Amino acid sequence: MSTHDLHDGFGRSISYLRISVTDKCNYRCVYCMPAEGVSAREHTELLTAEEIARFVRLVADEGIRRVRLTGGEPLVSHRIVPLIRAIRAIPEIEDISLTTNGALLPRMAPQLAEAGLDRVNISLDTLDPEQFSRITRLGRVEQALAGIDAALEYGFDPVKVNTVVVRRLNQDAFDLARLSIDRPIHVRFIEYMPIGNEETMTACASEPHCPPGVSGAAPELHPEAWDESDIVPSDELRAQISAAGERAGAGPLVPVGSHAPSGAGPAQYWRFERAEGTVGFISAMSNHFCSQCNRLRLTADGKLRPCLFSDDEYPVRDALRANDDARVLEIYRTALAHKPLEHETTDGTARFMSQIGG
Ligand code: SAM
Ligand code: SF4
Repeated sequence: MSTHDLHDGFGRSISYLRISVTDKCNYRCVYCMPAEGVSAREHTELLTAEEIARFVRLVADEGIRRVRLTGGEPLVSHRIVPLIRAIRAIPEIEDISLTTNGALLPRMAPQLAEAGLDRVNISLDTLDPEQFSRITRLGRVEQALAGIDAALEYGFDPVKVNTVVVRRLNQDAFDLARLSIDRPIHVRFIEYMPIGNEETMTACASEPHCPPGVSGAAPELHPEAWDESDIVPSDELRAQISAAGERAGAGPLVPVGSHAPSGAGPAQYWRFERAEGTVGFISAMSNHFCSQCNRLRLTADGKLRPCLFSDDEYPVRDALRANDDARVLEIYRTALAHKPLEHETTDGTARFMSQIGG
């Protein structure tokens, strides 16, 4: 069967595949990973670039049109450039995007552009150098800013910035939103989600090398310490940024009209009146967008995940390795058929975000 527009069990047309290229990362963001990182998988456990590309070729025939490469940090993987090139050669795929912390973009932007990458999202949670280093544990804010400059210079379009907002971090949201004024940058604020769980972290905290501040009772932020009180609902944040805009002479946020960037997905976009870019809000917690969810995830170790928040997984690696295309498609269709209509969002997940592909 080749339908060219496959629907899930609830009639949602599934056209968007998010692929985690690696679990590894050169940062250790406090809300995403434990301080010592995640245990490295055996190389043989990970899909190769050719296996991923073959999977994309198969599911392109089933209606997948857009692919996002993520991780972990996709730019630390040697697979990334050949993978983009191989996916670009699949005629049905209309859009290839990448989510990155941006640190390696200045160096890699030319190869990525040449391989056929269309656009990038760069994570940036604060402009404050000291806070940036505390949040990412290993990063410097200049790296992300240089990544944004490189993305604009090499013509990726649109360039989006992702900011995860956590109440106790008290981030400089208006300063970040202001990045959208003078350049075509689309700054999106994402509600903090419960990914990772206590069980996973208990294992970490009992390791002798687990640093102080990661264990359960410490006040430091970490994935298993997710608490509802840390969510800043998008409506509250938008009102705050809009008021700050008025005070600073940028005006309030106004509806975006026809200025929404392409690949809008679940974000709601606004903008300052004379701005080049926009300000988006992704209300994953305060306003579930399950009914419009058109995505499926493939983990770096070859498991299909129909929902970010559910630990239901459908492994395709063995079938890919056995060159059994019919079996791969059967598993793909089973995963789609089990895509839930909605999800619980407070229990956490067995994997950290970096192991799922956020
Ligand atoms: N390393 C790349 C990066 O940071 O952009 C790609 C992978 S990262 C897991 C993808 C996105 O997930 C980032 O924008 C990150 O901020 C976001 N993220 C991680 N943990 C999150 C959480 N608990 N809630 C909301 N977003 C989260
Ligand atoms: Fe790495 Fe991205 Fe997770 Fe930060 S959010 S630790 S950069 S995977």
